[in-house]
Amino acid sequence: MRHLHWFQADLRLADNPALLSSCGAESLLCVYLLPKARPWCNLTGIGPQRDRFLRESLQTLRISLQSLGQDLMVLEGSPELVIPQIVERFAIDTVSTSQTPGWYESQAIHFLEEKLSTPFCVHRGNTLFTPDQFPFDWGDFPDTFSPFRRKTEKLSIPSPLPSPDTLPPPPAAQFDAIPKATAPPHPGLPLPGGRAAGLRRLDQFLFHEEGIVDYKNTRNDLNGLAGSSTLSPWIAHGAISVREIAHAIFRFEKQRVANDSTYWLYFELLWREFFQWRAVVDGLSLYRQGGRLNRQLLTTYDPRQFARWCAGDTDYPLVNALMRQLTATGWMSNRGRQIAASCLINELDLDWRFGAAFFEQHLIDYDVSSNYGNWQYIAGVGSDPRGGRHFNLEKQAAQYDGAGVFTQKWDGFRALQPAYVVDGADWPITEPR
Ligand SMILES: Cc1cc2nc3c(=O)[nH]c(=O)nc-3n(C[C@H](O)[C@H](O)[C@H](O)COP(=O)(O)OP(=O)(O)OC[C@H]3O[C@@H](n4cnc5c(N)ncnc54)[C@H](O)[C@@H]3O)c2cc1C
Repeated sequence: MRHLHWFQADLRLADNPALLSSCGAESLLCVYLLPKARPWCNLTGIGPQRDRFLRESLQTLRISLQSLGQDLMVLEGSPELVIPQIVERFAIDTVSTSQTPGWYESQAIHFLEEKLSTPFCVHRGNTLFTPDQFPFDWGDFPDTFSPFRRKTEKLSIPSPLPSPDTLPPPPAAQFDAIPKATAPPHPGLPLPGGRAAGLRRLDQFLFHEEGIVDYKNTRNDLNGLAGSSTLSPWIAHGAISVREIAHAIFRFEKQRVANDSTYWLYFELLWREFFQWRAVVDGLSLYRQGGRLNRQLLTTYDPRQFARWCAGDTDYPLVNALMRQLTATGWMSNRGRQIAASCLINELDLDWRFGAAFFEQHLIDYDVSSNYGNWQYIAGVGSDPRGGRHFNLEKQAAQYDGAGVFTQKWDGFRALQPAYVVDGADWPITEPR
């Protein structure tokens, strides 16, 4: 039997049920398809840091595969076109992949299920739970987080699976080198892609520095690697599975200490879990301006305001610093994301999807369900029981960057620009101020 494993957001050997399913095969072809540059909200392509993190993750995965006599074929193109071509070219008998959320991603899977004449198995492995564990019917999936948490937080989490000791050999094929990223990691926040770096970070945050012990108080820190785990980039690429992280938290609680903070890190993994499944339920409405409720929002599209927000050149210094941190490093803290998103939605009156698309382009931890789910939450068209969030930017700056150190570090204090107004005939005029 000749097997094909299509890697998606599961760039690891350990705790990878889909990859393990290939173990009895006579040969195994491992393939990854680089994400398509889908034009969306006037943006195309992925930012340099996101691209770097992905390539580093692929390179380290390839090295792990090579240590077992395997290899990784990295190709470009849509799965609907490329996977059937590979199946035919290598006379593949069975195909596996790991489930990822997202409407377009699931459309591709449905297409392949129909089109391929070979068995195509989609495994679970990127979530804490499987749907059969939920104590509610799929049709009753909670609309908001709290009921979801109450119903799931005591469920048992399957133990992570070990890495395979051996894998079937690859078929005779050409495996080209993965082109290196053009951007180096930012020296101010050098987050390297790949499983080894992710495991080091997990060990550092939990067992070495014990940052988890005070996490609930420090998690709003705006700098990466400071108050929160900063594990999201490795989780999003599947370099470490969420089950591995959950079990590491439980181990820490058993061996060292269990308190509100250690629970809170698990609580945040439940947020991710909620958005992962909510995205499956919400389907295409995850990308609709009005969300699943189809709420009417009053927005205007002002390209200049959007460009200023993206460039970190608004009249809000903390937002500028956050946006500059994002484009330079590919990362932004949860508090920072809430502030930057609230500014785009409430101060600049822009369609939240433009902000989400910019985050999609740059975040090294981009994940369709967490990104669009959180944006919808703040815009009040998703799972927020309070109908959206409007943060007072001055108060947020005073509370989280009182001395302006963060804003200064990321060059957020910008000269005010002339007010931009539009006259009755929609003709842009500039007024001095
Ligand atoms: C507008 C907006 C967009 C976002 N886009 C993304 C995204 O594309 N990818 C992404 O992984 N997260 C996203 N988040 C969620 C959150 O900001 C990040 O997961 C978190 O900042 C990552 O830092 P950390 O690993 O230090 O998190 P920690 O505070 O250490 O939390 C541990 C883990 O819990 C999960 N988590 C924490 N908070 C959330 C949350 N609010 N929603 C979902 N999962 C959460 C993450 O997997 C995170 O790594 C977004 C939040 C907002 C407000």
